[in-house]
Amino acid sequence: MTLAELGWNDFFAAAFTDLNEPGLRPGRVARASRDYYGLLTAEGDIEARLPGRLRREPPAVGDWVAYAPPAPGVSATIRALLPRRTCFARVAPGRRRGRGAAAELQVLAANLDTVVIVSGLDRDFNLRRIERYLTLTWESGARPVVVLNKADLAENPEACRRQVEEIALDVPVHLLCAATGTGLESPAAYLAPGKTVALLGSSGVGKSTLLNRLAGLELQQTGELSEALGKGRHTTTHRELFLLPGGGLLIDNPGMRELQLWGDEQTLAGSFEDIEELAADCRFADCRHEVEPGCAVRAAAESGDLDPDRLAGYRRLQQELDHLTRRAESSAQAEQQRKWKAIHKQLRRSRRKS
Ligand code: GDP
Ligand code: ZN
Repeated sequence: MTLAELGWNDFFAAAFTDLNEPGLRPGRVARASRDYYGLLTAEGDIEARLPGRLRREPPAVGDWVAYAPPAPGVSATIRALLPRRTCFARVAPGRRRGRGAAAELQVLAANLDTVVIVSGLDRDFNLRRIERYLTLTWESGARPVVVLNKADLAENPEACRRQVEEIALDVPVHLLCAATGTGLESPAAYLAPGKTVALLGSSGVGKSTLLNRLAGLELQQTGELSEALGKGRHTTTHRELFLLPGGGLLIDNPGMRELQLWGDEQTLAGSFEDIEELAADCRFADCRHEVEPGCAVRAAAESGDLDPDRLAGYRRLQQELDHLTRRAESSAQAEQQRKWKAIHKQLRRSRRKS
C-alpha cells in the first residue's frame, strides 16, 4: 500500500518534513482507543502506543501521525499528530456541570474530503435536519454532498431533490436506491483513489446498505464484502477506516454513525442559538462580539438580558473552533466555510425580518 493510496499528499508531507525527526514514519489512524492505536502505513497495519503527553489532544480516526517503528521489546509509539486538513467535530456536553460554559468539542473524524449526508425519502425526510447536517459538515471544512436514498419509496423524488437543492445552495444532491444500486455512481464518484469519505445520517436511512454497495463495487461475493469492511467473522482487528477496492477510503465509526441531530447541542450555532439570534442584530455580519461597535451580543450581556457566563462559554468554544480551523489548511475549503457561514447568517437575518 502506498501512502498516496492512504490519502497522503503534499500538505501532510510538508508537515512531516517540518517535524525534522529522522527515524519517524507516517501512519494513518484506522482505530483509536485510549492507549493503543491501529495505523495504516506503507509497511502495512500496525499497532502503536499513544504516550500520555499526546492524550490531551488525542488523534482521531483519519488523522495522520508520525510514529517511531517498533524495536525489539518496544512497541511502535506515536510521537506527533500532524495538522488536519479538515476536522469533523461535535459539540458535546462537557463533564462539568453548568450551561454553555461546560460544552466541549469532540473530534469524531479527521481529514475527510467529502461527507455524504444520507437521508431517506420515506418518513425520515426532513429539510431542517438536512440543513443541520450541512452546517456541521461545513464547520468541518469537508465538502458536503446530499444523497436522497429510498427513491423507490417517494411519489415524486425529483421534487424532493429540488427542495433540498434550494436549501443546500451549490451542494450536489443525488437520488439513490441503495437497495437496488440505482444511482450508485453518484456517491461512488467521491471515492476517488486517496480521497476520504464518511456517511452521515440518522439510523435506518440506508447507510449500511450503501456502504456494502460501495465496498462491493468490484467484489461480488457477500463474504468478501463483509471482509472488505472488516466486519467478517474472521477478522480479528476492528477498523474504522477502510480502503475500498476502487481506491477510495471510507470512515465508518460509531461517533459518526450514532450522531443524532435532534438535541440542540450538536453544532456550534445550534448550541448557542440564543447568541446567534442576538448576533443577527450586530452591525457587522462577521462580528466576533469582542470590541466591534454596534455589537448586540455584548449589549445584551451588559444589560443583563444575556447571562455573561453563557457568553464566556460561547467564546471559549469559538476559540477552540478557531484553533481547529487554524490547524486545518487555510485553503479553498476554509474559504468555502466562511462564505457559507456568511450566507447562513444572511438567511437568519432575512427570516427574522420577514
Ligand atoms: P442504516 O441504519 O442507515 O445503516 O440503514 P440500513 O442500511 O440498515 O437500512 C435500513 C433499512 O432500509 C433496511 O431494511 C434496508 O433494507 C432498507 N433500505 C436501504 N436502502 C433502501 C432503498 O433504497 N429502498 C428501500 N425501499 N429500502 C431501503
Ligand atoms: Zn456582535
